[in-house]
Amino acid sequence: MGVTLPRKDLFETPDGVIYLDGNSLGVLPKGAAARATTVIEAEWGNELIRAWNTAGWMDLPRVVGDRIGQLIGAPAGSVATGDTLSIKVYQALAAALKMRPGRRVILSDSGNFPTDLYMAQGLIGTIDKGYELRTPAPEDVADAITEDVAAVMLTHVDYRSGRMHDMAAITEKAHAMGAVMIWDLAHSAGAVPVDIAASNAEFAVGCTYKYLNGGPGAPAFIYARPDIVADVDPALAGWLGHAAPFAMEPGYRPAMSTERLRVGTPPILQLAVLQEALKVWDGVEMADIRAASIALSERFALEVSNRCPGLTLASPADPALRGSQVSFAFKDGYAAMQALIARGVIGDFRAPDIMRFGFTPLYLDEDDVIRAAEILEEVIRTEAYLDPAYQARSRVT
Ligand SMILES: *Cc1c(COP(=O)(O)O)cnc(C)c1O
Repeated sequence: MGVTLPRKDLFETPDGVIYLDGNSLGVLPKGAAARATTVIEAEWGNELIRAWNTAGWMDLPRVVGDRIGQLIGAPAGSVATGDTLSIKVYQALAAALKMRPGRRVILSDSGNFPTDLYMAQGLIGTIDKGYELRTPAPEDVADAITEDVAAVMLTHVDYRSGRMHDMAAITEKAHAMGAVMIWDLAHSAGAVPVDIAASNAEFAVGCTYKYLNGGPGAPAFIYARPDIVADVDPALAGWLGHAAPFAMEPGYRPAMSTERLRVGTPPILQLAVLQEALKVWDGVEMADIRAASIALSERFALEVSNRCPGLTLASPADPALRGSQVSFAFKDGYAAMQALIARGVIGDFRAPDIMRFGFTPLYLDEDDVIRAAEILEEVIRTEAYLDPAYQARSRVT
């Protein structure tokens, strides 16, 4: 058994807010602001350039990668951090295609997050060698893995519905067909137990501002299976992925580890904040997180189904088949979410009609989700969402 959940005292949740959007941007951990101040004033301010050595800045991407690795079942040294998830998707995909030179198909699914698909489309255009992106429905993906597929690139937990792919079974099928497997763990890391090494997948990528609470724009991560690192040809051959960056050699020579998937100068402020944020996981067992997450999402789904018959569950009803979120379809979903947010319950909206609620057992308990369902019921029953104030769409939904 790990530490007792929730750990609300480790977070700065604003008064009067029930936060059901930790799947999009996690809550501010208590130590983060002080750490940012230390980096800015003591390290940058006083140490200046020396801080790369004296404050451990140069090691930070690896140290933080190792801590993330513990949460996703990756061995030390196999996770690199930096850039954004979109970039890491591109790098993994480009490397995977190089590993299967005779094949021309990238297989994903129609539910994947748009940027993952866009990165694949952009890469295909750049290579310009007749590659094809196939996106069958998520439930048809396993059958669509054929012997012409170079890389299977899937997001483990669907951002919209929460539906979760069977990582072990799909990876096994990909390998049986000779394809390289890439998992996007954006909605998995810190949300559900993941054993990426046991899955045997070649690559995994993810972001750290969702369930890992690293803050807006926190760096992404990429895992490469240690035994294939020597076959990973970095498409973005940046100097910090070089075997000896400060040798300043004119030719690129990749580092002999996942470090070769680093690109340029690491975002030290964000990495330091992320390192601080990851401390809330000390002593936490992912199995306990999963059990608490299922209890919270089941309770919320039951309350909402009973209280709001006009909303349709848009996630798998079986909690074993979904990640740490529950979505409901509702025709006035955007406005209803705005009305809900105005009443202190924060979830989010994904087009065309999905009201999305994330469950983060580190800082949520049963009373929170029951209260949230009560307020949602009030919004729906009184049709508060018809107020014109809730109709105008902001840039971020
Ligand atoms: C959140 C998310 C992203 C975001 O990518 P960024 O480059 O960090 O903006 C990408 N893919 C998936 C599957 C996501 O859930």
